Amino acid sequence: MKVRLTAGLLMAGALTQLAAAPLKVLILTGQSDEPYHHWRETTACLRELLTRTGRFDVLVNEEPRAVTNESLRGYQAVVINYNGPRLPAPAEQAVEAFVQSGGGLVAFHLASYGPWFGMVMQNGHWQAGAPGAEWFAWPKIIASNWEPQKIGHTVRGPFEVRWSEGSPFGKGASVSFLANDELYHKLTLAPGTHIEATAFSSPQVGGTGRDEPVVWTNRFGQGRVYYTTLGHDAMAFYEPGMGTVFTRGVEWVSSGEVNLPDVQPPATPPIRLLVVTGGHSYPVEFYRMLNSLAGVTWTHATSHEDAFAKPLENRFDVILLHDMIESTSSQVRERLRSFVAGGKGVVSLHHAIVDYTDWPWWYQEVTGGKFFVKAEADHPASRYHEGVDFVVTPVANRRNHPVLAGVGPLTLHDEVYRGMWHSPNIDVLMQTDHPENDPPVVYIGPQSRSRVVYVQIGHSAQTMDNPGFRRLIHNAVEWTAHRPN
Ligand SMILES: [Zn+2]
Repeated sequence: MKVRLTAGLLMAGALTQLAAAPLKVLILTGQSDEPYHHWRETTACLRELLTRTGRFDVLVNEEPRAVTNESLRGYQAVVINYNGPRLPAPAEQAVEAFVQSGGGLVAFHLASYGPWFGMVMQNGHWQAGAPGAEWFAWPKIIASNWEPQKIGHTVRGPFEVRWSEGSPFGKGASVSFLANDELYHKLTLAPGTHIEATAFSSPQVGGTGRDEPVVWTNRFGQGRVYYTTLGHDAMAFYEPGMGTVFTRGVEWVSSGEVNLPDVQPPATPPIRLLVVTGGHSYPVEFYRMLNSLAGVTWTHATSHEDAFAKPLENRFDVILLHDMIESTSSQVRERLRSFVAGGKGVVSLHHAIVDYTDWPWWYQEVTGGKFFVKAEADHPASRYHEGVDFVVTPVANRRNHPVLAGVGPLTLHDEVYRGMWHSPNIDVLMQTDHPENDPPVVYIGPQSRSRVVYVQIGHSAQTMDNPGFRRLIHNAVEWTAHRPN
């Protein structure tokens, strides 16, 4: 009898959950104090955490300057992932009025200092700005103000966060959870603020030796506000406890209730990308392109010694080759063979088609292409020409391939290559009909143990900044990493 009753209640609970309309949530983002905080990276984590609950309909606005009363209508909550210049008055007033009239607001970490508080950056430190420079309502909305001279945090690392006794956000959860973050300290909270979670700020890692507030709630007009000092970067969001912190916070400001389960899968860990260069120059925009890859953390090896000293497969998911080194040591071969055998991803970019030409297995079985620097007995030298305008288009029947998602024809000012060798087993995704370039430009290599993509374009700064090219590289990294599965 008891068992049946429990089952019945669970069922009723599940049905209520299913029947409830999704809560509409708008993430306001688009600027942050780079290089400290990367809004693209954390927005991707936030969006995923919220979406996976099935409870929220999440939209992202990367241009909050354009926010109006009208554009916020219909949302139950806004989430602020922003640290940049003040917004125009109508946008600030719209956010203020939204919360004042009962809309929910969640803000975190980087939203507790900066221009919205009237601060200005001087010599690498925030200073109080001119009187009246602040968004007057913002510190009142989040119930917190940080005197510029007190801004600081522990060394980034793991620490324990404890839910306050009776906090609805810790309901059914373990008393504490682990954060891997910066623990902010010495914030001034408004009187009457509800502190929902705290963490001990250890002097051993630059802390205050006291418990510091980590989560608090506030009322602003009719609206509910939830603030957490957590959320430095993607690695911070990967901690399982962050799901509880963010999803329950957004649920509560949106609906006044906390029903989401505590135990949730953590956010997907970032793709670990090893970038190998050496043997050929490249524009600095290459780094901008790498930094634009959401959900990817990259490590740079500037030589083979750097790249291949240790086994790769436990440390990286994908290797991006942008080197131009023709000869391979036995160690390089061993490392790459075992990486490929382990099913890891390979993205070979532009002049990396000249790589490892002393190692037929690599260009015949893995990447599927070879550029002949010199004529060989059975093949004339390949040719190159910099600074050519040409167009690269998706192959008609390969348009639906994940590597081409959102990538249309690309108009480029880049380098053309002609007279290369191509394996008959490559799967060509993009091509050109420019007479100075061989037709295949983007293709999947013949390797069956792992996913391999070669992208020929990628010489010029313009290409690195081309959104379609960035999308292509992002897709290639994700696809070769088997994300999503
Ligand atoms: Zn931070």
